[in-house]
Amino acid sequence: MSFLNPEITYYDNAYRKIIPDTLLGFLRSLDGLTVIDIAGHSNHWRVVTTLIHGNEPSGLIACHLWLKSDHIPATNIRLIFCNPEAAKTKPFFTNRYIQHSADLNRFFQHADHSNSEVRVRARNITTLVNEVVPEAIVDLHNTSGASSAFCVSVSESPQHLDLASLFTERLILTQLNVGAIMEQSFGAPIVTIECGGSDENESHRVASEGLYKYFDQQELFNKVANKVNVLRHPVRIELTEDASVGFSTHRLTTTDITLRADIEILNRKPTVKEEFIGWCKPDTAFSFCALDDQGINRIDELFENRNGCIFSRIEMQLFMATAVAEIATKDCLFYTTVTD
Ligand SMILES: [Zn+2]
Repeated sequence: MSFLNPEITYYDNAYRKIIPDTLLGFLRSLDGLTVIDIAGHSNHWRVVTTLIHGNEPSGLIACHLWLKSDHIPATNIRLIFCNPEAAKTKPFFTNRYIQHSADLNRFFQHADHSNSEVRVRARNITTLVNEVVPEAIVDLHNTSGASSAFCVSVSESPQHLDLASLFTERLILTQLNVGAIMEQSFGAPIVTIECGGSDENESHRVASEGLYKYFDQQELFNKVANKVNVLRHPVRIELTEDASVGFSTHRLTTTDITLRADIEILNRKPTVKEEFIGWCKPDTAFSFCALDDQGINRIDELFENRNGCIFSRIEMQLFMATAVAEIATKDCLFYTTVTD
């Protein structure tokens, strides 16, 4: 049984005249993988991918607002709405991916030759990007928890920094390989923009203003001085095996570890040495690990188990921390970079 529509829907400039006026009307009109091509002043192409995750609306909101405007972009634009089925699964904008399925942003590896419907969707998206031989690709997301915006990239080349600077002044450089679209090579720079939390108006503003600049600028690259701050070598903090996590202001007896209920505020500020993170079993190993981009577990360098209380050992910057137990369990608890 298929849950993802195998067809691809194409629209062009004419769509701007008939686009549904409301965001939900627009979402309801997207039947599956949808491409909207808008002609610009030059024949180059720039691509936007968004809605890879159905619970991350900022990219859709920004694209909808822009499509309703009469702005003519500097180059041709291809907008790719990657997974509307997940966003349309009720309640709207709460499902990262459709039930019975898997996280689309873990299926972009070229070497994956399987034909599951999620892998086919990822392959179709890749083909749609390559088809127009773009000069740049921007992939718009929201963070799982409340957060300010940042860029995630596998390169800190001047071009990647220029792209990031349209949206944010923070770039997280990663060599972690999880099968995400921005890890793949398209012959053009690609960055993922995490616009911030999915229910924060500030995130939608970041997406809209950045998108407008991305579409409007004749020259994207060779900005002499962008102010992007690069954070290197993120470590992924994830549960080990079948360990369980909860979030509370006190130690839960029903889970292996309890993270402090307000863990998401650590997305916005540096975590100092000796910061309290949560609770775990007093006399056992942590029920989570901290994998760096070499696959080495750095847990003992980063955290200390002091009589069942978890403290940071060094100064670090958390990101993608979420207090949504399902995402924390199925994906990861958070990422962290170590402050130099
Ligand atoms: Zn996402």
